[in-house]
Amino acid sequence: MTTNILGDVVSNIVGTEADVKVLMPRNADPHSFEISAADAAEISQADLFISNGLGLEEGITRTADSARSEGIDLLEVGEHVDPLRYGDGASPGSFDPHFWTDPDRIDRAAELIGSAVIEDVRDADTTAVRQNTALYRKRVQGISKYMSEKFNTIPVERRQLVTNHHVFGYLAERFDFTIVGAVVPSGTTLASPSASDLDQLAHKIRDARVAAIFVDSSQPDRLAQVLASEARLPIKVKSLHTESLDEEGTEAGTYLGMMKSNTDEIVDGLRS
Ligand SMILES: [Zn+2]
Repeated sequence: MTTNILGDVVSNIVGTEADVKVLMPRNADPHSFEISAADAAEISQADLFISNGLGLEEGITRTADSARSEGIDLLEVGEHVDPLRYGDGASPGSFDPHFWTDPDRIDRAAELIGSAVIEDVRDADTTAVRQNTALYRKRVQGISKYMSEKFNTIPVERRQLVTNHHVFGYLAERFDFTIVGAVVPSGTTLASPSASDLDQLAHKIRDARVAAIFVDSSQPDRLAQVLASEARLPIKVKSLHTESLDEEGTEAGTYLGMMKSNTDEIVDGLRS
């Protein structure tokens, strides 16, 4: 299992039926994560290797290829959940890997993961995995409903998102937000903005009277702060967990908790 966000979903589904090893530590940036040689070697012992896919984990492409050539069963979840392509401005034409920001796609992902575990993991009890999957999907459906209700309290004209990179395409599609722009105008954190990119975005923010800029807590917020001051409007800079879970035991330490706290922060940032 590569990312800790999907790792949490997988752990809920697998329960005590098998060992789940999550490669990326909490608060890591999945775009820049590099796998250690010891971890890469361990993958060849796995019954199933699950990744986010769609180009998110740039540092593990080779590891995934070699696992595939060794005959390890691979599930790249992203390609099976109706992935969206980036529009203009962010790696146009390529797939957006941040599908977990739409809980309905995680619901679908949970179903897929449950089936893959039943099919590929030796000794996993089919009934237990089915029950775990059904239970977890109910909880994901619950967070989807919570998000709908909360976001509906933000007037549509205020549902405007500026983020540090393009991370909320799926959330925007699902819950009727407009993406005004991103500080790093790319689908990955590995790019950097030019002075004219920043200047253009400051104009857009001013024209749209954007109330808040959302940055990921794994990234520095310096550029977002500069933008907020350049736009000469009272703009809040809010830190969310969008790429990686927070430490265990904290609010954003699970997928469901992360979605809830991001929802609350977005509502708080945009409603007034
Ligand atoms: Zn990202």
